[in-house]
Amino acid sequence: MTGRPEPLVIRPPSEWRSLLVRITRGCNWNRCRFCGIYPAMGQPDFSCRSLAEICRDIDLLTGRHSRFETAFFGDADPLAAGMEIFTGAARYLRRRMPVQRLTCYGRISTLYRLGPANIRLLAEAGLNRIHVGLESGSDEVLRFQRKGQSAEMVARVAGWLKAAGIELSCYVLLGLGGRDLWQRHVTATARLINRIEPGFVRIRRLWLHGRNEEGGCPLWREVRTGIFVEQDPEGTVREVELLLELLEPLETFFACDHANNYIRVSGLLREDRQEMLAEVRAFLALPPEQRQAHYTMVGSRI
Ligand code: SF4
Repeated sequence: MTGRPEPLVIRPPSEWRSLLVRITRGCNWNRCRFCGIYPAMGQPDFSCRSLAEICRDIDLLTGRHSRFETAFFGDADPLAAGMEIFTGAARYLRRRMPVQRLTCYGRISTLYRLGPANIRLLAEAGLNRIHVGLESGSDEVLRFQRKGQSAEMVARVAGWLKAAGIELSCYVLLGLGGRDLWQRHVTATARLINRIEPGFVRIRRLWLHGRNEEGGCPLWREVRTGIFVEQDPEGTVREVELLLELLEPLETFFACDHANNYIRVSGLLREDRQEMLAEVRAFLALPPEQRQAHYTMVGSRI
């Protein structure tokens, strides 16, 4: 078979070894103030691919490589393609290659609309992990950032996923409350995580891309007008410290698994929380020049 499969725009770092299948193009929401990533990467519009196109790509990908242990469906919200296309693609993939894990990105609002019965069908079709942008547990922050979800929606969806046996991997965005709301942002986020006990919490740092460029992060406008004051580097480390102080010893793997993070602690909250907290505090106890040099050295990237 000839031709090339359509590539994804982005994938989670943890899916670097996965077979990557494009179900939808771009993001169907595209309104989060802090994001703008798909337009910036040349995919401003959202569209759904047909099941025939997706299966053709799966044939190309599985024909080219003899063995993958895991697979990932993108772009931002492949469940927006609808149950028929998503489950059809999942079943087809699993027939072509018996992967151990099939994951995708998913918006909480889409999962909320689908409801528990459809979520069970997703599990039956072979979806066993989903990466969602929790971002913050604070409704005030979520509203301002136009995320289109609330803490209550996250909690309900998390319960449905757990009941269906689908692992939940949540992204939390340091700095999302800016300097004014950071404590409320972190406190509410810890409260929500303690309530839902996801399989994974993955920490990211807010970085506003494209400061002076057309297509830069939409939040620049609020930064320029002074409505949003960016968190400083040390502030994001203090956010990690407070988060770890407030989180309970959960069966949740906590990971700062992105190069943007100023502090890269990881571990199981049940066993490693105190150790991670000690590591963060040891860093904060370093001389100011040393901490500053570290912040300068860590680059910013998407
Ligand atoms: S954060 Fe996710 S849902 Fe929001 S605009 Fe970006 S890709 Fe879309």
